Amino acid sequence: MSWRVPLADVDFDQEEYEAVEAVLKSRWLTMGAVTQQFEQAFSEFSGIEHCIAVSNCTAGLHLALVALGIGAGDEVIVPSLSFVATANTVRYAGAKPVFADIIGEEDLTISPDSIKARITPKTKAIMVMHYGGYACDMTQILEIAKENHLSIVEDAAHAAGSSLDSKSLGGWGEVGCFSFFPNKNMTTAEGGMVTTNDANLAHKIRLLRSHAMTSITWDRYQGHAWSYDVVGLGYNYRIDEIRSALGITQLKKLKLNNQKRRSLTNYYWQALNQMVPEVRTPFCRHSGESSNHILPIILPVGANRPEIMERMKEQGIQTSIHYPPIHLFSYYRQLDSTVALEITEDLAKRELTLPLFPGLENTDVKSVVRALADSL
Ligand SMILES: *Cc1c(COP(=O)(O)O)cnc(C)c1O
Repeated sequence: MSWRVPLADVDFDQEEYEAVEAVLKSRWLTMGAVTQQFEQAFSEFSGIEHCIAVSNCTAGLHLALVALGIGAGDEVIVPSLSFVATANTVRYAGAKPVFADIIGEEDLTISPDSIKARITPKTKAIMVMHYGGYACDMTQILEIAKENHLSIVEDAAHAAGSSLDSKSLGGWGEVGCFSFFPNKNMTTAEGGMVTTNDANLAHKIRLLRSHAMTSITWDRYQGHAWSYDVVGLGYNYRIDEIRSALGITQLKKLKLNNQKRRSLTNYYWQALNQMVPEVRTPFCRHSGESSNHILPIILPVGANRPEIMERMKEQGIQTSIHYPPIHLFSYYRQLDSTVALEITEDLAKRELTLPLFPGLENTDVKSVVRALADSL
């Protein structure tokens, strides 16, 4: 299928090709100087002290939970309106994901009141997800966490370049995790970044990323070590130099590309408001600095979403949904079929995601909104 307007697109040019080629020519292929440089660059960009590059965001979330000591018998409060990895990683750690509802039509992030209602003596952490790069209500969530002695893990997969009160997302909780999957705001093909301002957690995460070995191949190549000990049960969640090289070039473009997303988002909101006022535009009054990762809309009650998506497809426009609620997937229903989340279930049925990427033009936005108006 060749889309006239795809949902997302990468921004690659000569710089990325050359960066990859340089790594291949250097003959050092994984976790070396280029990865260190990528981590350093991400730390400078985000203002978060410790950045640990990993094979993907899912691996990063798993490491975050393990480093926080979360395991069997523990509960972690998570949103259900997220990508399945948010809850899966809690299961990897051996703990139980407890699903919370979202705020509402204006704001699709986890509801602080719903979090409060789900705290039990077993709760150890809250995993928030900054939907579309729009910050969760971190002021309230931090307060709840403090009162109840809970850790916060931020699934910041959407949030590269996002901030709230001038402070980067991914740096509000104990640990943040970013994704560099191809449809995210910057990509390394597969890849992720774990961020923390806690030196002790950073040390643990670095160890766990590579089998909990006290020295890595790179240290030994550098002549810094000749053997190693294994001090825990670690994983192979490393990133390689090819991906890190892509990450360095992509990070340089992130600010400008996010500005383009912001301006396209404003244009969308204006056009939607004028041409299809019955459609709701979540986050249009949001106060943080968003990465504007995706463009979610809420269709009116009774609208036939599959038919609308089909009609837009006929015009070459790709749309998507974010997300089928996690608690309704077969796997999670088998674990607990009693979970009911009123707002999540209502809005997830009516949510539609429109195309958004830096290379999109205002004229494309106009034609997407016109096609939506016709389809409705
Ligand atoms: C993309 C995404 C992930 C997973 O990222 P990977 O890098 O593919 O592991 C996790 N959570 C959310 C919300 C995502 O959008």
